[in-house]
Amino acid sequence: MPELPEVETTARLIEPHVSGRRITGTRVFWERTLGGDSIRTFRRKTTGKQITGVRRRAKYVVLHLEDESALLVHLRMSGRLLIEPDASKPGPYVRVALRMDDDHALHFLDVRKFGRFTHVGDPAGALAHLGPEPLGSAFTVAWLRDALRNRTRMLKPLLLDQTFLAGLGNIYVDEALHRARLHPESPSDTVSAPKAKALHRAIRDILRAAIRRQGSSFDGFYRTPEGQPGDYQHEFRVYGRAGEPCPRCGHPIAKFVVGQRGTHVCRRCQRRTSRPRRRARPRA
Ligand SMILES: [Zn+2]
Repeated sequence: MPELPEVETTARLIEPHVSGRRITGTRVFWERTLGGDSIRTFRRKTTGKQITGVRRRAKYVVLHLEDESALLVHLRMSGRLLIEPDASKPGPYVRVALRMDDDHALHFLDVRKFGRFTHVGDPAGALAHLGPEPLGSAFTVAWLRDALRNRTRMLKPLLLDQTFLAGLGNIYVDEALHRARLHPESPSDTVSAPKAKALHRAIRDILRAAIRRQGSSFDGFYRTPEGQPGDYQHEFRVYGRAGEPCPRCGHPIAKFVVGQRGTHVCRRCQRRTSRPRRRARPRA
């Protein structure tokens, strides 16, 4: 499933093709992709509008329109955005096709149909529930240290929670926790200040490196808008490597389920921590 680096790559690569262009035609082949609007309503809201910019927020590609509204694209399992030179022939699995005023088209392909291509009148409001961006200025070591200390959830489900921190998914959480030598089931309030600093650095380093490599492709779904696979899967230290040696210590990588997600851990490098037990009252 595409995470921050894959969505960032997608947004960066479509931006020069669609920013400043006007949508001259809208075709929808799967209404549920619109997330609530009817096809007729969606066409009315989008046709004729100019796209003023493309950004990423969390795992959304945000296409800003000239009337302050926006299109939010969530790729989910298998969604892809593609720039097509010929707008007239959408191929199989295209759920939404936007024709641009230069006759190129932006196609939203989605084999599994879980993806969404939604028009929102107030993009800031629609995205307000999301946590800070891990590569943004609000995500500081001090913020992470305090935010972990003020919560009691297990680390991995907390880091996957988009309202806590935006953009991380299963792959990059597993990789970041291994890099910081933290166990995914450790309660967040047991993370020491030096470990919080290590986790902050791991998250940023991994995301930046993955963006440089245009994300990770390992299941055949994710491709860039230019049709290329990402390259960061070759850097995985734990994800998808169950039974293989930990690159740091050589111990075999274990795989188990945490919060319904397949999770990869080196049990030697990543020790589970628990809260100190309250001391029993001395007997009288
Ligand atoms: Zn190890």
